Amino acid sequence: MHTLETMTQMGHERVCFHQDPESGLKAIIAVHSTKLGNALGGTRRWHYATEADALQDVLRLSQGMSWKSACAGLPMGGAKSVVLLPEQGFEATEAEARAMGRFVDTMGGVYIAAEDVGTSTQYVDWMAQETKHVRGGETACDGGDPSPWTAKGTFNGMRACLAHMGQDGSFEGLTVAIQGMGHVGMVLGELLNDAGASLIVSDINQDSAAQAAERFGAVVCDPESVLEAECDILAPCALGAVIGPEQIGRINADILCGAANNILVDPDRDSALLADRGVVYGPDFVVNAGGVIHLAGLYLGYTLSDLQERNDAIEDTTARILSEAAGGSSYEAAVTLAQSRIASGNPLQESCHAS
Ligand code: NAD
Repeated sequence: MHTLETMTQMGHERVCFHQDPESGLKAIIAVHSTKLGNALGGTRRWHYATEADALQDVLRLSQGMSWKSACAGLPMGGAKSVVLLPEQGFEATEAEARAMGRFVDTMGGVYIAAEDVGTSTQYVDWMAQETKHVRGGETACDGGDPSPWTAKGTFNGMRACLAHMGQDGSFEGLTVAIQGMGHVGMVLGELLNDAGASLIVSDINQDSAAQAAERFGAVVCDPESVLEAECDILAPCALGAVIGPEQIGRINADILCGAANNILVDPDRDSALLADRGVVYGPDFVVNAGGVIHLAGLYLGYTLSDLQERNDAIEDTTARILSEAAGGSSYEAAVTLAQSRIASGNPLQESCHAS
């Protein structure tokens, strides 16, 4: 991969690499855009097959954060970081997290780190020993685990998808299939169960699936077949790149709306394919913005009731995007909205010169 060329194509401002021999940390921070403000984005710990895979992931995720913040109407840019692990499941240490905190600190506040896949509130608190530019901890910095807020936002996005299909937004009598009963999936399951939906759940961790089955009376489905389960709403809440042409051909749901980042393998192609099949797609970076709204909101000094209102507004934003897509690609409509806000330099205003 030609890094500068890719950055130019995707519009990244800055990509920084760091290695710390003492802790073994190897990490990349990608700042996509600060046009709307400083950029908050999680720190992902992951074992990548190659360094190029890690770079591609952080570039794509950070671009997604710019679009997520813009669609959420936040005066925040987009950035993300990845820690490259020597093997999957490699245990996090305080030394590694503190080295990461020092790396984050070198960005001078342009980048604000937070929790993501592979990191925890503890990891964030360790980073916060070295930098004030981090959110989502429980002791050394505030925010806590943003997952319940993400789940609530995704639930709000689902309501908009239902309304778009002419339903009243009620979940009574509906079936929702969730892939991944982790931090977000479990809370989403609880919200849907409380709202009267029947659940089909799946997780590669059998204990998580069994726990959801017991709590919600859910039907457990194996991780391979959940994406083709017969349901009203399919909610991928595990990993990204799970829906491509093959899965779209077999999808048995009217709505695709989940919390996972980058659900579609090739968003331009796959969002159009979904539209052709008549599946309503709530774009992931719009519906899963609850977590960033919460942490960025605390950073920006919003009150709890502001945060709640902004989370609820995910329903209106999703509805607007689905309406603007007019039966075509909702992903494209969402990117257009985000780019137009970024081009205007104001998250509450759209430019007619967005690229
Ligand atoms: P998590 O790690 O707590 O949960 C993920 C769950 O998915 C785990 O239980 C894991 O066992 C399961 N899983 C992994 N592969 C699977 C597969 N093939 N089939 C079924 N289950 C599988 O993560 P999380 O915090 O709940 O986040 C879930 C997704 O939402 C991620 O893609 C994350 O990037 C995205 N997201 C999370 C937040 C947040 O606030 N946590 C915010 C925005 C986006």
